[in-house]
Amino acid sequence: MESLNYITSCRTEESAGHDRVWAQIDMDAVLYNMESMRNHIRQETQIIAVLKTNAYGHGAAAIMRELEKVPYVWGYAAATYEEAKELRNQGARKPILLLGYVFPYCYRDLAHSEIRPAVFREDMLAQLSQAAAAEGKPVCVHVALDTGMGRIGVQPDDSGLAFVKKAINTPGVIVEGMFTHFAKADEEDAAPTKRQIALYEGFRDRIREELGYDIPICHCSNSAGIIAFPQANMDAVRAGITLYGLWPSDEVSRTAVPLRPVMSLYSHIVYIKDAGPGVSVSYGGTFTTTKEKTRIATIPVGYGDGYPRSLSGKGYVLICGQKAPILGRVCMDQMMVDVTDIPDAHEGSLCTLIGRDGGCGITMEELGDLSGRFNYELACDINSRVPRIVCGGSLG
Ligand SMILES: *Cc1c(COP(=O)(O)O)cnc(C)c1O
Repeated sequence: MESLNYITSCRTEESAGHDRVWAQIDMDAVLYNMESMRNHIRQETQIIAVLKTNAYGHGAAAIMRELEKVPYVWGYAAATYEEAKELRNQGARKPILLLGYVFPYCYRDLAHSEIRPAVFREDMLAQLSQAAAAEGKPVCVHVALDTGMGRIGVQPDDSGLAFVKKAINTPGVIVEGMFTHFAKADEEDAAPTKRQIALYEGFRDRIREELGYDIPICHCSNSAGIIAFPQANMDAVRAGITLYGLWPSDEVSRTAVPLRPVMSLYSHIVYIKDAGPGVSVSYGGTFTTTKEKTRIATIPVGYGDGYPRSLSGKGYVLICGQKAPILGRVCMDQMMVDVTDIPDAHEGSLCTLIGRDGGCGITMEELGDLSGRFNYELACDINSRVPRIVCGGSLG
């Protein structure tokens, strides 16, 4: 597993004129977003912080360390065993839940490392039971219930009930939780999510009545559910994108839960040249200058860092609080922008790729739209070549 080095101080333009690229992670914004969600949900409801894909590209270890101290954070959710293990290695003491299928090679360590798998296949129960016996330690599991996502999970019917009964009676397996996942909570039409909630509640009640078992931790909501469906705040909610100050979609309310973006992405101008008319810029010469004089700045960032190549000729960056459009194709490690109208731009000037500069800002959402992607995807794609620089928070 990669282990990023976190530098827990903020850089400023003055001190860092030579930095190629860095993602600034504002830990105060993480804590603000957590409090904001906390203020919007029932006080008894705990939050599971979703830290999969290296915390949506924000750096899971540093965020986990900050959230260890937040009392209403029940634990973390990861997508894979390796992500969960890395969180443990980095010092996570709270419970860790795995949201997808977990392969049998790691079942013994799940018991040992107290990592909770989602269960929904019968063969998992017998194999987890064996692993628990071998470790001499039980495995806590969360039943995945499919109420309309159509991805993983048992059905909320007799077959699902038989599965839950079997899970409850499997030696070494403790049914600690049950969750479902909303497919459309970020859309304006609330009816499909209400149907999912009703299916979940009906099934939970059947478990209580027919099996005499009260599932300790019931959880349904993702970020969109936290914002829009207070009735789905059960024992816990799973906060992903909102933790990072980003929006699940543009159909959810922007006022119910105020958020602050956590990641900003910065670079510096490394070269400036003046070009006359007829000069072609970057691979394929998709842009050619026409003006008498064009001032072209080279930025040492490209798709090799996860900055989308689809922003070629479409995106822009901020320099001196002004927009500088991308000229021609984004290369793997460099790109060119137009600074003709930004006379103060010079070699070494700060360049904001995501974030605010003076009165201007570029959000992950806007860049997602411009690049034909999705804000979640764009954040996840900022890769390990980009150092994460943490500022704020109690460790900073
Ligand atoms: C990724 C994921 C989440 C978090 O979703 P957000 O929209 O980012 O809040 C919650 N639950 C499950 C099962 C997931 O896979």
